Amino acid sequence: MTTAATASGGNAGQRGVDAARRAEILAEPGFGRYFTDHMFTSTWTPDLGWHDAAVRDYGPFRLDPATATLHYAQEIFEGLKAYRHPDGSVWLFRPEMNAARFQRSARRLALPELPVEDFLTAVESLVRTDVDWVPPTGDEHSLYLRPFMFASEVFLGVRPANEVTFAVIASPAGSYFAGGVRPVSIWLSEEYARAAPGGTGAAKCGGNYAASLLAQREAIANGCDQVAFLDAAEHSTVEELGGMNLFFVYHDGTIVTPELSGSILEGVTRSSIIEIADDLGYKVIERQVGIEEWRSGVASREITEVFACGTAAVITPVGTLKWRGGEVVSARVDEVSMRLRQQLVDIQYGLAPDGHGWLRRVA
Ligand SMILES: *Cc1c(COP(=O)(O)O)cnc(C)c1O
Repeated sequence: MTTAATASGGNAGQRGVDAARRAEILAEPGFGRYFTDHMFTSTWTPDLGWHDAAVRDYGPFRLDPATATLHYAQEIFEGLKAYRHPDGSVWLFRPEMNAARFQRSARRLALPELPVEDFLTAVESLVRTDVDWVPPTGDEHSLYLRPFMFASEVFLGVRPANEVTFAVIASPAGSYFAGGVRPVSIWLSEEYARAAPGGTGAAKCGGNYAASLLAQREAIANGCDQVAFLDAAEHSTVEELGGMNLFFVYHDGTIVTPELSGSILEGVTRSSIIEIADDLGYKVIERQVGIEEWRSGVASREITEVFACGTAAVITPVGTLKWRGGEVVSARVDEVSMRLRQQLVDIQYGLAPDGHGWLRRVA
């Protein structure tokens, strides 16, 4: 049998790598392949509330085959990073926003809401315990943190679970642009939707990702890197990628991002870019963007740049938009998007003033 660890060349299930091996991993961490020595876990039941919170050795969960989440996908997650600054200190970027979003996701999935303070304590205690796993500054490396919560009750009846597990794991992450900035190509999904009105699109849950995978596979089959989704009802309004929000830069310098419709995930990166763009003097508008506006705007050069954003990649320029029967290529891929990206990354790594108070020191 090939385990996930051997398939990806990672260290999952392997205990206690020594300092030399860790340094090797941190020099070229990739994404989601290696995990630190510890994890945080706690349990919720209706009687006890949240309890048994602890940082313990990283290792597998033992799951009964009838564990509810395996059947009904009552599960949510978060993604944020710890950054090492040039003086060696370690910082989180707006973790309160992840904590608040985790609560909103929990509410939508009928999971118990974890208090913001408990979320922060969990993340910070894991980072402090495994602080040697936060990569050195430079090269845009970071420690990716993955808080998640799932129905761990053993029960096949359909109702919100009466036992829930919360956990945080950590994985060193390399720069998305290790080989230099490369614009991504986007496949327009005209058949599949990611999220529907009244559905779970605004929650960060595994089910949304499961729903996006077939479309993502279609993107790859059509020679594209990522897939863009439209609104489920009309297939006419631009929503987002499978795991990143979208922005459009217009000829006159105006920046537009699809307004939160209830089926778009509210990215921390999206919110931060809106504020940073404003700081840098750009006019930013949140409104509906029609797919025809994207296609014809790029073709006519009214739209000069398109970019996607999220914690993992920060900002990635979009080069080509492709659909069944055609494609358009952006005029520029780097000017505004790379300026915004640099400003955001500089704040995260302590190289630009944190005027908004977005950073939170952990170590
Ligand atoms: C996580 C996520 C994003 C990006 O959110 P960030 O907080 O910026 O990382 C965008 N879209 C979807 C669907 C997501 O799950």
